[in-house]
Amino acid sequence: MKSTTMILVFAIAAAAGVFSFTWESVDLEFTSLEIQAKGAVVKTIDSEDGIFPDSAEVIESYYVVPEGCISCQICISQCPVDAITMDENNLAVIDPAICINCGICASGCPTSTIELLDSDDCALYGVDEDGNSELIQEELEEI
Ligand code: SF4
Ligand code: SF4
Repeated sequence: MKSTTMILVFAIAAAAGVFSFTWESVDLEFTSLEIQAKGAVVKTIDSEDGIFPDSAEVIESYYVVPEGCISCQICISQCPVDAITMDENNLAVIDPAICINCGICASGCPTSTIELLDSDDCALYGVDEDGNSELIQEELEEI
């Protein structure tokens, strides 16, 4: 990408915020925890020394709602920082650590299935050893 275009992209990029959530302690019937938003995993949380933490931070970035993704990969070709990949189910996934929140992918997605994360959409899930997820807490307290 030409440098002038990159300068424009960074100029329109929004600063990434961070949501901090807390919840009641979770027992160890699960192998990991996930914070999900509309079916997208926006944070995976592993146990530390056999205990799950009762809080986590989530980067406020764009993410793909998997139900609407038709695997066209237009977003991948448009992202200026290569923050998007296809997962094992051939669905687009955005890495929030790389995303600069420019919104280009959301504008270009033909099914409008790329959204900016809203804290109200976040819920806590537990994942078992077979990879099945179960809702633990629908509304997370922000700290
Ligand atoms: S542009 Fe939209 S529909 Fe196409 S791969 Fe990306 S997220 Fe999926
Ligand atoms: S993932 Fe989307 S919002 Fe994030 S940098 Fe790439 S094009 Fe911009």
